[in-house]
Amino acid sequence: MRNDMKTLAKSKPEVGLWLEHRPVPEVGPDDVLIRIRKTGICGTDIHIWNWDDWAAKTVPVGLVTGHEFAGEIVEIGRNVEGLAIGQRCSGEGHLIGKQSRQSRAGKFHLDPATRGIGVNEQGAFAEYLRLPAFNVVPLPDEIDDEIGAILDPLGNAVHTALSFDLVGEDVLITGAGPIGIMAAAVARHVGARHVVITDINQDRLDLAARVTDVVPVNVAKQDLREVEGALRMKEGFDVGMEMSGSQVALDQMVENMVMGGRIAMLGIPPGKSPVDWSRIVFKAITIKGVYGREIFETWYKMIAMLENGLDVRRVITHRFKVDDFRDGFEVMRSGKSGKVVLDWG
Ligand code: ZN
Repeated sequence: MRNDMKTLAKSKPEVGLWLEHRPVPEVGPDDVLIRIRKTGICGTDIHIWNWDDWAAKTVPVGLVTGHEFAGEIVEIGRNVEGLAIGQRCSGEGHLIGKQSRQSRAGKFHLDPATRGIGVNEQGAFAEYLRLPAFNVVPLPDEIDDEIGAILDPLGNAVHTALSFDLVGEDVLITGAGPIGIMAAAVARHVGARHVVITDINQDRLDLAARVTDVVPVNVAKQDLREVEGALRMKEGFDVGMEMSGSQVALDQMVENMVMGGRIAMLGIPPGKSPVDWSRIVFKAITIKGVYGREIFETWYKMIAMLENGLDVRRVITHRFKVDDFRDGFEVMRSGKSGKVVLDWG
């Protein structure tokens, strides 16, 4: 039987990941074992690869990394009900506690004791992943493994985009990384009027325009005000989604919002950034921090939208066999890719 598996592990406290063989995890009574088919490489994985300050103080050396995955259930713990061997699935990578106030109120995504697979706990860059059955999200036939492998970041995009009502609204997204681009596709899908996405990386803006019907703006070359004029917008954007973590982008967003506008923030600014709070107060702007995905409401909505025509396939720009993972990480680190998917066979 299986007792040995391939993994991508953080074996040493230095730049890189290493292809290593590890024992297949044992399944507890409330867990399932998933045979991994495809995984997505996340920006988080790049931080771990680079072994920056955040990674060095967060990730234990030796950890199996990765948290974006799709696969098939091959083993089931004895307490598990409602799942079957052979079931295709993805899953929520945040392992929640059940004790906190928010968790007991059913707001699982706000549990402060959350631990992440591939960050704090053994991850999905492996031939087999042990996961609590609670975290499993079965995949319908219409969602194939490579889309299944990017539901985690699509979930970030959906959670951010659905933070505020977008129907008939003008939406500004700052940061055309894969999540910003997918958020644009979601905004379009649910009925926003204009969706404008900004970046200073032209490759990413070009990708955004290939994935969805969006107005890409290179703010290094083009003035956002002129774009608003061309779209015949009079008072600014109704909803903003900050996806870049850039202070300049947030300032620009606040500057271009309507009075009483609403901003959802997923981008993580480096350290303490100066913010012009008086501008935010006088414009009566609401800002919401977004973390992870709503468990499991975001998953429900995202799968429903995918079944109903939401198409984000083109955000996947590169596919590699896991043995060629170095090429995958290289293209991610170049900043010239969309999502990169690894194939585990
Ligand atoms: Zn991710």
